[in-house]
Amino acid sequence: SVAQECQRAWVEVDLAALAANARQIKRLLQAPTELMAVVKADAYGHGASLVTPTLLDNGVDWLGVATVPEGIELRKQGIQAPILVLGAVNTPSLVRAMAQWELQPTLSSPKQALIFSRHLDDAPHPLPVHLMVDTGMARLGCPWEQGLEFMQFVRGLPNLQIASLYSHFAGADALDPALTQVQHHQFQTVIHQAQANGIPIPRLHLANSAATLRDQALHYDLVRVGLALYGLYPAPHLAHQIKLRPVLQVRARITLIKSLATGAGVSYGHQFIAPHPMRIAVVAIGYADGVPRRLSNQMTVIVRGQRVQQVGAITMDQLMIDISHLPDVQEGEIVTLLGEDGDQEISVDSWADTLGTISWEILCGFKHRLPRIPV
Ligand code: PLP
Repeated sequence: SVAQECQRAWVEVDLAALAANARQIKRLLQAPTELMAVVKADAYGHGASLVTPTLLDNGVDWLGVATVPEGIELRKQGIQAPILVLGAVNTPSLVRAMAQWELQPTLSSPKQALIFSRHLDDAPHPLPVHLMVDTGMARLGCPWEQGLEFMQFVRGLPNLQIASLYSHFAGADALDPALTQVQHHQFQTVIHQAQANGIPIPRLHLANSAATLRDQALHYDLVRVGLALYGLYPAPHLAHQIKLRPVLQVRARITLIKSLATGAGVSYGHQFIAPHPMRIAVVAIGYADGVPRRLSNQMTVIVRGQRVQQVGAITMDQLMIDISHLPDVQEGEIVTLLGEDGDQEISVDSWADTLGTISWEILCGFKHRLPRIPV
């Protein structure tokens, strides 16, 4: 039925796998530690509106987005869970929108806290805000050495209520724990300073997927998990903890089959020349859908449970595959680019390895042109 609905190419989203992953991760946490699902960037390409209800039904307590529009989209869908905006917001109109839509900001500086406080005079309640300290990522957050001062400053401002103190790891996936230990130690220092000065902080959080899988001591009151919910491991050495199932599969349809004579060139630039008479299938997916052009001649796909080589330059909307050894394959059949077919499986990590990038980037690369189909 999926094949009938989708003429060309599509992303299948395995909601059962997603639910199982969320439950597995929740089981790693010691109550009352809560689970935030990071659903920014359209839930890492899976479709935020599609996956969020399943996540909330399976142990997720909080949602993390990058931008205000991402949060508003979830609210418009009727999602009521608390939403933390992980990205920076500095403009008055967005500050008011956050109050209106009950989105909670990340604050990184006294200056930013002042902008929020000043533009929330009409709000009926204080806005819950999350103070971020930079312990070594050099991205958002105030320098951890100024964390105490920052907490004291925000405490004195009207219209704001401190909801949490948090930080973010720069290398929790590394084999060597040194950087993570330094960052954790600096975070602990800020916590001790808050305690020593009688500043109540209702919630502390630090862990992404890697830290969540790595060490329960990093869980604190809340873990912020993205990648692992989608069934991928941040690093191979973190794969022993729990069994995760990939959620996303990418499939496309064969639209035309043709025969090539020896010596025929395939696609732009004739980067592939038929070494013998060949049977070629044209597949309706390309780099405008999120299949990186740099995979040209370097990727395999699955047809009828068998590995098939991609040949020639991947084009904007189409690519070619060599089906010479599969004489029965017909136009209209389905090709698996990522995911399982029969006993074959192609992982997002294998693409990332070939391309010298990370799985997060591959996932976020799939464009809206591909419908997200729950399976
Ligand atoms: N926390 C913050 C602040 C993030 O920016 C992200 C994503 O990059 C995450 C948590 C989730 O990271 P991961 O996908 O590695 O779990």
